[in-house]
Amino acid sequence: PLTTTDLIEEHRICVCVRARPLNKKELTSKDLDVITVPSKDVVMVHEPKQKVDLTRYLENQTFRFDYAFDDSTTNEMVYRFTARPLVETIFERGMATCFAYGQTGSGKTHTMAREVFVMLGKPNYKKLDLQVFATFFEIYSGKAKLRVLEDGKQQVQVVGLQEREVKCTEDVLKLIEIGNSCRTSGQTSANAHSSRSHAVFQIILRRRGKMHGKFSLIDLAGNERGADTSSADRQTRLEGAEINKSLLALKECIRALGRNKPHTPFRASKLTQVLRDSFIGENSRTCMIATISPGMASCENTLNTLRYANRVK
Ligand code: ADP
Ligand code: MG
Repeated sequence: PLTTTDLIEEHRICVCVRARPLNKKELTSKDLDVITVPSKDVVMVHEPKQKVDLTRYLENQTFRFDYAFDDSTTNEMVYRFTARPLVETIFERGMATCFAYGQTGSGKTHTMAREVFVMLGKPNYKKLDLQVFATFFEIYSGKAKLRVLEDGKQQVQVVGLQEREVKCTEDVLKLIEIGNSCRTSGQTSANAHSSRSHAVFQIILRRRGKMHGKFSLIDLAGNERGADTSSADRQTRLEGAEINKSLLALKECIRALGRNKPHTPFRASKLTQVLRDSFIGENSRTCMIATISPGMASCENTLNTLRYANRVK
């Protein structure tokens, strides 16, 4: 299993996978676990029941990431390997972004909620005389379109978005709670809504009014929505197409970032427009956590998630 000595500090782009345990519903319907994490950076999708020979990689679908978290990994542990290494970046005039990507119900929100850190307690921010602001917004295709502006210094601004100054961790948690309740109000279920929108939570450090660093935590829309492009319902189809487009644009942008490519297709979606200033610049770091459901019934979505995450790096 992973231990903290496995932590790689110098990642500019970190891509990892997290499998959750079979849930009650899956156990009741006698769904079978098809996921094994044979080592700290490998995940395997295999036939259920069969005695899996973990050394025979070719007979199973095997994917290698920076880290693979099995279903016994705690949120604290995931945090240590993913978000925590990014925190330092924003105190050093940098940009940090952490994504959760996966099918609805696979554990994106479960993982991101706990990533909301202890970083405001860091003593070095006091020394720097920084002000801390936070924002929480959604990118949702059905509602009034988000307008994104870019100033001369290539900083991104979302029109009408309020940044709240936060003084302590409790302020941050309160904001997230308010944001989350807005997110789900009027919806039949939290997941029905969150599967169709990207939730963006940002912590912005300013020094004498100027941006010093920014941390973005992004709970992405359910990636299974991409399949909705063939739905009979027009609205569902449009949403599916938009989500598909933004997830593809995101993949291309992170790839370009990792390869120092001159052209990065930020304009291809609202999501990537909003994140533009987080991706450019020398001091930027990104982490993607691909979350997967362990059941055979989710196998197709799981493979799609793993293939996507595999292509990001
Ligand atoms: P998503 O945001 O991807 O749609 P959620 O984070 O809402 O999925 O997770 C769905 C359910 O599974 C929730 O009840 C959550 O608490 C549970 N869950 C997710 N990941 C884990 C995990 N690693 N361990 C235990 N329970 C989990
Ligand atoms: Mg969710």
